[in-house]
Amino acid sequence: MHVQVLASGSRGNSLLVRAGELHLLLDAGLPLGELEQRLDQARVSPDRLDAIALTHGHLDHVRAAGLLAKKSGATLICCEALMRNNSVRSAPRLRTLKVGSPLEIASSRGADRISLLGVTVPHDAEPTLAFRVEHQGRIACLVTDLGSPEPALKHRLGDAHLAVLEFNHDAQRLAEGPYPRKLKKRILSSRGHLSNTQAGECLRALANPNLHTLVLAHLSSENNTPELALAAAETALQAAGRGNVRLIVAEQESVGTNLRV
Ligand SMILES: [Zn+2]
Ligand SMILES: [Zn+2]
Repeated sequence: MHVQVLASGSRGNSLLVRAGELHLLLDAGLPLGELEQRLDQARVSPDRLDAIALTHGHLDHVRAAGLLAKKSGATLICCEALMRNNSVRSAPRLRTLKVGSPLEIASSRGADRISLLGVTVPHDAEPTLAFRVEHQGRIACLVTDLGSPEPALKHRLGDAHLAVLEFNHDAQRLAEGPYPRKLKKRILSSRGHLSNTQAGECLRALANPNLHTLVLAHLSSENNTPELALAAAETALQAAGRGNVRLIVAEQESVGTNLRV
């Protein structure tokens, strides 16, 4: 299994999962044309997509979901509560994901199957899911967006070989930065976004002997820097005795490396 970040940040999020012939997109938050360009850069034609699964209903995660599902023929997978979302309901094929129950997704072209598990995390879109994807014993997890560290993730996602985790902001930069007070309050709330320090706490739940790669995701362009986020991740991993984990910062404006899980 391979994962590749197509976009990450408040302007749009999308992650491509490849498992043999199976192609799964986690979130589709860019405008349709831009998302198609990113898929093209990843050398995947939209009609190869088997499914698109959604973490939550914020626009930076769902923007092109229904349109891309319609155009590509992919099945759109989300919680029941998201099915009435304007960006979702145009999808011709919808499939319900039940929180806490693994869903098997099959490739339309081959025998490949993956298991997708959604678990809830605290964020101001109800519900918001973190994902665990498993293919032939290899496990990747995606943990964005959330407002407070979730030690409970350890039980459901604490065996991943590759983790994508939100490192949204540096608390001091956010406090001293130009954002309006109301927006700062939303980001800082327990249902907003993780600071670098909080992401470090969350990482302790995800660090496990399998983990070989960590992707730092959903960085704020205004209130964070890759250097600050990387420093927080390194500190947390060293404290967990996992200083040898490969660290990669996901980009908003360009497609990332195709990573083996
Ligand atoms: Zn969100
Ligand atoms: Zn987001």
